Amino acid sequence: MCAVVGVYDNDRAAKLVYRGLEDLQHRGQESIGIAATHGDRIHVEKQMGLVGDFDPKRLEKLPGTVAIGHLRYSTAGESRIQGAQPLWTECYHGELAVCHNGNIVDQRHLKHEVMGLGGTFHTSSDTELVLHLYARSHRSNLAHRLVEVGSRLGAAFSLVMMTGFGELVAMRDPWGFRPLVIGQIGTTTVVASEDCTFKALSMTMGQEATGVRDILPGEMVIVDQDGISSITPFHADRTLQCVFEHVYFSRPDSQTFGLFVGEVRRQLGRSLARLKPTPADIIVGIPNSGMFAAKGYSEESGLPLEMGLVRNQYIGRTFIEPDHDNRSNLVEKKLIPVRDLLEGRSVFLVDDSLVRATTSKKIVNMVRLIGRAKEVHVGISCPPTISPCFYGVDTPRRAELIAASHTPDEICQMIGADSLTYNTLENLRTAVHPYEVSFCTSCYTDLHPLLEILGLNKDGQPKHKQALPA
Ligand code: AMP
Repeated sequence: MCAVVGVYDNDRAAKLVYRGLEDLQHRGQESIGIAATHGDRIHVEKQMGLVGDFDPKRLEKLPGTVAIGHLRYSTAGESRIQGAQPLWTECYHGELAVCHNGNIVDQRHLKHEVMGLGGTFHTSSDTELVLHLYARSHRSNLAHRLVEVGSRLGAAFSLVMMTGFGELVAMRDPWGFRPLVIGQIGTTTVVASEDCTFKALSMTMGQEATGVRDILPGEMVIVDQDGISSITPFHADRTLQCVFEHVYFSRPDSQTFGLFVGEVRRQLGRSLARLKPTPADIIVGIPNSGMFAAKGYSEESGLPLEMGLVRNQYIGRTFIEPDHDNRSNLVEKKLIPVRDLLEGRSVFLVDDSLVRATTSKKIVNMVRLIGRAKEVHVGISCPPTISPCFYGVDTPRRAELIAASHTPDEICQMIGADSLTYNTLENLRTAVHPYEVSFCTSCYTDLHPLLEILGLNKDGQPKHKQALPA
């Protein structure tokens, strides 16, 4: 998962992009990059690490009235500075800088095709394809060129791009996997992954944001000296917006795909509580992502919500740590059981999801051992995660997904809980009602309509074309 931001028509464009990225840090912690232009040359500055690590001197090297920025959480390609975005190129059509959220499902074939034509790749990132396809287009008009690029990419992409001439472009694949929002703050146009960015920028600029709306699936918006133009050149017969944005990824105060994320999570907690009687004295949310579901669970069950676990704010993300032992140790450092609230009680822990089960196992153990709880029950606000994601969420390989090969009872034993309750797919669909038909739920169903459409099997390999060498 990644974050993208674009700002058009402001003397402080790069600084505003930086401010927007600060509020999207939850979408990517590997690298930060910003590109800016006055309409002459594109300047790019990028660095590994968090937004707060970005050297302020770099911002001074980014003059211009148009800027785009990116936070990376790699799902395709290695985590190295070469893969940090914006990616940039200079070609026959001039300069182009690109920021991408998503994952190009058919990238291996597209790359193979481009290489066959003499193209060389400098990164392992799928985003580099955008630059190649753009540079190779024979269309003389920017919009036509980009429609050609988008049509070849398939999915999944929410892209924010900038030309050396100072045109800002935003486009979203026709299935709409990843979010993308556009709006105005005064005369400045802003594009961002989530609408929480507009709150941050409104405060900084001392002006309310207006006309904030989703860039629609299949839509392409170009902002230039003539104003804002929008077309919808990419078509699909249904949308497949990522339901995991609501379960986990988006910030709870964002409105993603037309629904308030925190409210969806609260409803998931409520429906989880209705599944069976709660065998506990208190409800405890696992910080931070389980908190809204825990609130809903407490409301529905009538049991008190207690701050039985607090978070050490100085420990970063644990999920992305590749080494199992390190990940497990980080969980231990990140969460602190409050014995005063837990001791002698039967505790119902609520988390948003269970993927490899490293987190839950550790937490159940901590709540028993350090918290001295009498019983520890676990509730997960979504259904079992049984399939990897090919569309931009960093879910581990199928072999690491505990629910792909174990029943809930087996998982309950493995994590050492007194009971384990998952929410149901039906409840998840109801929580995002009335949009249920338009969501991608592949990670819970292992059904992949997009792979079918693209003629790929569940490993992303073509069913009918000859497979490429690994
Ligand atoms: P696990 O230990 O693998 O079961 O991790 C589950 C925890 O990681 C849950 O508490 C989630 O909040 C979080 N999580 C789930 N999926 C992701 C993801 N794709 N990226 C980052 N964190 C995640």
